Amino acid sequence: MDIHEYQAKELLSGFGIRIPKGGLAYSPEQAAYRARDIGGGQWVVKAQVHSGGRGKVGGVRLCKDESAVYSAADELFGSRLHTAQSGDSGKVVYRVYVEGAVAIKREMYLGLVLDRITERIMVVASPNGGIEIEDLSSNQPDQLIRCIVEPAVGMQSFQAREIAFELGIDAANIRDATDIILAAYRAFEELDATMVEINPLVESIEGKLYAVDSKMTFDDNALFRHPEIAELRDKSQEDARETRATDRGLRYVGFDGNIGCIANGAGLGMATLDKIARAGAVPANFLDIGGAASPDKVAKALRLVRSDDNVEVILVNVFAGINRCDWVADGIVQALTLDPPNRPIVVRLAGTNVDQGRKILSRSGLPVIRANTLDEAVSRAVRALGTQVPK
Ligand code: GDP
Ligand code: MN
Repeated sequence: MDIHEYQAKELLSGFGIRIPKGGLAYSPEQAAYRARDIGGGQWVVKAQVHSGGRGKVGGVRLCKDESAVYSAADELFGSRLHTAQSGDSGKVVYRVYVEGAVAIKREMYLGLVLDRITERIMVVASPNGGIEIEDLSSNQPDQLIRCIVEPAVGMQSFQAREIAFELGIDAANIRDATDIILAAYRAFEELDATMVEINPLVESIEGKLYAVDSKMTFDDNALFRHPEIAELRDKSQEDARETRATDRGLRYVGFDGNIGCIANGAGLGMATLDKIARAGAVPANFLDIGGAASPDKVAKALRLVRSDDNVEVILVNVFAGINRCDWVADGIVQALTLDPPNRPIVVRLAGTNVDQGRKILSRSGLPVIRANTLDEAVSRAVRALGTQVPK
């Protein structure tokens, strides 16, 4: 789960990291009020969307008086930001964050990620920040500082101090920078994050270090033990299809193709996507109904896949172990009886109670295309693209 910049900063501030003074606004009037309350002579008005790269597309505005704050906010509210990270549909701005502007001397990059190769938390840093990590790693890979943390002992002060030196921090600020890096690590670990990014980490003209922008991503499977984080979720920033899935206990990832997929188990789901790709077609989604899925859950999965207008054919691939083919068939019949199919549906059932499952499908009289193997199911689904529902 992703959160907003202002939320990430508030969390980091709780771990002792210095952030500029700021306040959230839901209207231009409120934004101007925030600026007055913050004081000073320059403010930054920042669109709160779940994406970086806002600066490049006008989502971060430097303002020199209250009326400029008002109009910047007025322009941002309700607008759709198309950033390098936001996907084709962009992200709509419903909140802006107003901050006292920092007089910047230097921008640096600090990020903590889960490194899947070493299976460790890795700190990535660069003396040149303010640009996205994707650009840093492709344009100036030699500038990147990397540091792996041993989980048994956690991050050590000497490691943080080394990073601070490599960032070229002024001697007077080494202690402060070391504390920031250690604090970011503690936040990552204690809050079950999968990513913590401070970009830019700024050295100001008056010689102080600030987190001027921050992003955090959390492990969905650990949210149950962080209710204060879970409540920061902002559904307006998510892919609507994925929100509906999460709310129904289904694991769903949306793609851009036209074959809607339902499988049980992540492995079988991925294999199904691979087979579709190999057949030269593009899946519309990944959807895992999990184990022991009730007819009701299967019906929900089917409705979810059908709610995607790009879907032309639906492919259900179930190899039942803990699952039961008769329950899956019941779910399919339940969903299709309520809402008759307007697109071809290919169903492959195998495993527990397969005979009952097949009987339920044939007795229903619904126009379901059946297949015995995954290969057969995929080739039938691809062939059905662009055709009408068999009557
Ligand atoms: P992003 O584009 O979504 O990553 O948004 P950022 O918050 O990182 O802002 C983009 C850029 O705007 C930063 O890299 C800075 O150069 C600039 N910026 C942001 N906040 C301030 C500020 O308080 N003072 C100044 N001078 N520049 C800022
Ligand atoms: Mn940034």
